[in-house]
Amino acid sequence: MMEELYREILLDHFEHPRGRGEMSDAEIVEHLLNPLCGDEVTVFAKNGDSPSEVAFTGRGCTISQASASMMSERLSGMSRSEQLEEISRFIGMMRGGEEDESLGELVALKHIISAPNRIRCATLAWEALQKGLEKE
Ligand code: ZN
Repeated sequence: MMEELYREILLDHFEHPRGRGEMSDAEIVEHLLNPLCGDEVTVFAKNGDSPSEVAFTGRGCTISQASASMMSERLSGMSRSEQLEEISRFIGMMRGGEEDESLGELVALKHIISAPNRIRCATLAWEALQKGLEKE
C-alpha cells in the first residue's frame, strides 16, 4: 500500500536525517518557528550561484524534521536559482497544488498530510531557506 511506503519514507528521514548539523561556513542562516505545532528549524546554505550544500538543525514533529531532511537531500548540489525553483514548486504543491511526480519522494508529504494545519510543518524548512536565499 502506498500509504505505508510514504510513512516509511518519512520515518526514515526522521530517524536518519540527511544534512542535519550546523554548517560552519554558511553564508545563509535562517531560523523559523511554527508556533501552531511547536516546530523550529534553522537552515544553513551558501550564497551565490555555484552548487551548494544545504544543512539544518531543529526540533519538532516528524513531518517538520523529515521534510527538512528531504529538503537537504533534494537541494544539496543545486545552484541558488535551481533551489529557489524547487522550493516554490514544493510549496505550491503543498498549498493546494496538484501532486507533482517530478518532485520524487516529496510527494509522500503531500499524501501523508490530510489536515490543513499540518501543511506548515512540511513547508517550514523550505520557507526558511527561501527567505534566506531571497535576501541576497
Ligand atoms: Zn509540526
